[in-house]
Amino acid sequence: MHKIKSATLFFLLIVVLCTICNQTDAQRYKKNKYNLEIIDNINDYKHETDKNNSAKLVPLLDFIPHLKTDFVYATVHNFTHTALYKNPRAYALLPTAQALKKAANILKKKDLGIILFDAYRPYAVTEKMWEIEPDPRYAADPKLGSGHNRGIALDISLYKLSNGKLLKMPTGFDDFSDTAHSDYMNLDKEIIGNRQLLKTVMESCGFEQLSTEWWHFYIPNPNNQYKIINLSFDTLNKYTIYN
Ligand SMILES: [Zn+2]
Repeated sequence: MHKIKSATLFFLLIVVLCTICNQTDAQRYKKNKYNLEIIDNINDYKHETDKNNSAKLVPLLDFIPHLKTDFVYATVHNFTHTALYKNPRAYALLPTAQALKKAANILKKKDLGIILFDAYRPYAVTEKMWEIEPDPRYAADPKLGSGHNRGIALDISLYKLSNGKLLKMPTGFDDFSDTAHSDYMNLDKEIIGNRQLLKTVMESCGFEQLSTEWWHFYIPNPNNQYKIINLSFDTLNKYTIYN
């Protein structure tokens, strides 16, 4: 009888401790004015990544063979006509990076490499984009955040490994016309073929394509498990050198 009581008490103690622990964890991340949970400091990022490897932002250039970058948001040549990035580096969550590596290996056999226009984007930049262009056709609404803020979205195209030339695609990056839609068909056969090849390879590796942007791919986010991150490139760059 005494033994049963002790066991019950011990069980209750564990339940209470777990509840306190979960509450602390649930309250750990700040909620912004839109009630979104945001990881906005390196301690919270470390806490999240210590318990879950999938929450890690991986430097993609160290991870993906033949990956090239062209950060248009670091220049004024983007839809906001403002340089939005300082010291950008290509990051994505580990599951995104692993899926992209798989795609890069398939493409390599076809003499193709991936060029990346954008990957992880700090949430503050999404807010700034919205300030400049508050139109959901062109920018992500900060009320929802973007797949880029979660490290699960990539803006990419293809280039030939043997000569470095970009493959012809329907439009340039961040062209917001109907021609950029993934089902737009009034195009040369070669261009439709290139777009289809990119889509087929990416989908075979677990990505989905945005219907209005042929260049935007993302991994699904069931149960909103991937959190919004607001760490600057400088903060991440410093942290990932040592970790
Ligand atoms: Zn995108």
